[in-house]
Amino acid sequence: MRQKVRKTLIIIFLLLFPVTLNFLSPYVSIDGAMIGIISGSLLLFIFMFVTAIFFGRAWCGWICPMAGLSEACLSINNKNVNVKRLRIIRYFIFTVWAGILIAMFVMAGGIKGVNPLHLTENGISVDGPMKYITYYLVLALFFIVTVTVGKRGACHSFCWMSPFLVGGMALGKLLKIPRLRVKADSSLCVKCGACDKKCPMSINVSSSIKDGYINTSDCILCGECIDNCKKKVLKYSRK
Ligand code: SF4
Ligand code: SF4
Ligand code: SF4
Repeated sequence: MRQKVRKTLIIIFLLLFPVTLNFLSPYVSIDGAMIGIISGSLLLFIFMFVTAIFFGRAWCGWICPMAGLSEACLSINNKNVNVKRLRIIRYFIFTVWAGILIAMFVMAGGIKGVNPLHLTENGISVDGPMKYITYYLVLALFFIVTVTVGKRGACHSFCWMSPFLVGGMALGKLLKIPRLRVKADSSLCVKCGACDKKCPMSINVSSSIKDGYINTSDCILCGECIDNCKKKVLKYSRK
């Protein structure tokens, strides 16, 4: 039941992507920064950072429009990916983007205002022919990378948003704030491997649980491992 709800949600958010595209756009943030404006996308990235302190990467498992597309691709390519190698590419892209963003704010003379609807004045992102091209290019890029690389390949390799989530989690850990996690009673585990097979983030769940919880920033709290473990080893916990 939980997975049906989750999958319905991520499909709904994928269908709403023509409306929300600009609020997830790395370009809109930079365009705003050029005139000293904090745009809607930068506000959303800050919101993601803050929510990750308490809910980790639940955004990626339950809300992100790209989650629906990534999981649809599992029926074409269900191979695990080399998470560590792809992470290097992702952080390189994020560092370049963040550097440009900061440089633009500096060149604009600092932050001059906030406009959540910057470049989205009528509230809908895809409102013209050029926007349709951008929309289909983003979908095509995510689709091609994911079916080529494997499970959530685009998420692992070039998502500019996930570093905000990982950063929020790191801050929460530093401040010792309880965060939603997947907790495990490893004494019940029979090493059947069902959780490893079902994890969309290529996490070796059965090995990770020796610490008593899934201890990696790659976990998106989707609950697939929880719902596919017949021995009830895993559960959500905020401790
Ligand atoms: S990694 Fe990025 S693209 Fe993938 S689900 Fe998370 S926020 Fe969305
Ligand atoms: S599905 Fe459950 S019992 Fe099987 S390996 Fe994973 S945690 Fe252990
Ligand atoms: S470890 Fe479990 S909750 Fe985390 S991403 Fe994998 S399947 Fe989802």
